[in-house]
Amino acid sequence: MRTGPLRLTPQAHTALRPADAARITDGFWAARRRTNAEVSIPQGPARLQEAGNLANLRAAAQDTGVFAGDFPFQDSDVHKWLEAASWQLADRSDDAELAAHIEELTALLASAQEADGYLQTYYQVAHPDRRWQELGWGHELYCAGHLIQAAVAHHRATGRRELLDVAERFAVHIDSVFGPDKRIDGVCGHPEIETALVELYRETGEPRWLDLAGYFVDRRGHGLLDADVNPHLGRAYWQDHTLVREATSVAGHAVRQLYLLAGVADLAAETGDAQLRATAERLWEAMAAGKTYLTGGVGARHEGEAFGEPYELPPDRAYAETCAAIASIQWSWRMALLTGEAKYSDLVERTLYNGFLSGVGLDGDSWLYVNPLQVREGYEGANEADKAARRTPWFRCACCPPNVMRLLASLPHYMASGDAEGVQLHQYATGVYEAGGGRVRVATGYPWDGRIAVTVEEAPAADWTLSLRIPAWCGDFTAAAPDGA
Ligand SMILES: [Zn+2]
Repeated sequence: MRTGPLRLTPQAHTALRPADAARITDGFWAARRRTNAEVSIPQGPARLQEAGNLANLRAAAQDTGVFAGDFPFQDSDVHKWLEAASWQLADRSDDAELAAHIEELTALLASAQEADGYLQTYYQVAHPDRRWQELGWGHELYCAGHLIQAAVAHHRATGRRELLDVAERFAVHIDSVFGPDKRIDGVCGHPEIETALVELYRETGEPRWLDLAGYFVDRRGHGLLDADVNPHLGRAYWQDHTLVREATSVAGHAVRQLYLLAGVADLAAETGDAQLRATAERLWEAMAAGKTYLTGGVGARHEGEAFGEPYELPPDRAYAETCAAIASIQWSWRMALLTGEAKYSDLVERTLYNGFLSGVGLDGDSWLYVNPLQVREGYEGANEADKAARRTPWFRCACCPPNVMRLLASLPHYMASGDAEGVQLHQYATGVYEAGGGRVRVATGYPWDGRIAVTVEEAPAADWTLSLRIPAWCGDFTAAAPDGA
């Protein structure tokens, strides 16, 4: 049984499918994942306790207390940690302490949920009269999206329904409120619900989640957030500046744009919508050609955490949020599966080793939010941005650390895919990958050593093909059968 992100439905319109099973067993990424499993993820509950996230859930459950923290999206840190922990538990099912933490937080979320399914502590505890009134800033659908992704991960990893039940109750509530002929015709200022609803559809088979995802994508660009948004930042910040299908380049807040496009790719995969697919391909080209750093980092501007103009990529003023690199990887992987083209996995590789991995220290306990290519701390013009380019234990706005955790915990599933013809290796990490009816074992010292040994352990009875991505940077390679073969 697959336990990673993206369990496509049998009818999905993609060139490739994620591996049926994937394990990274040794080498570069195994070391990073071990630190993630043994340091980063275990410290999560204590960090969430210190930052007030868990107190907020208790306050909502007990209907008393004050909201801790500055942001309406505090709950999403809990959801993202739960998603990371769930993928991790799939890897280490004997980790009783991790399982206990997951169970405890799941129960806390269930107890904080309102009878009608609503769940966001900022509005439950601090502003109950403003529920669904501030879609530009409120992050309610964003938090719901992360809750859904956590629930899908938990269900796939454990087969248990507790968290999925919470997420579905919230989704039912959202579906009762949002729609063309319902109480609210609106979208969230921070995309995320779109990709999450497609995953919920994949996990439950309920078509209305796919329809709702399509609704949220196509209602952007109609000015539905105008009453609520800060004109200084412009509509692109909220991804409300254009009809998605008519967009010509990535724009605005980078994480918002890329979460939205992950959802667009998911929708195209499950519906076969050719126009959405063409949109995703067009925007990816614009990003990769002119709005991506050498590191794979994206979102050049501090102002609005935004994409700049094409080729506006200052190294020392790069914002390049860790979350944006993660979102780029998530979107590019979806595009690789959708189209079968290697260029998407080339960008995943570049981003994984550079713009993403700089976001966490080797200790697994220190983090970067912004990832400039050059730090000028100490020079005359040094500013807050330069000071931000030092790793710290946690953030007031702590979106990045649990995001790193969930990507590293689910990383094996970005390595390989399968189709009717055979198995495709996209990234090279020592491990075992089952796809397309075959099983291959990879052994490599990559990226320090370019030698990659692939052993076919199981092959389908019919003819099949083993495909290996030749990295775009690699101008010279040789393929050789082992001695005696
Ligand atoms: Zn972040």
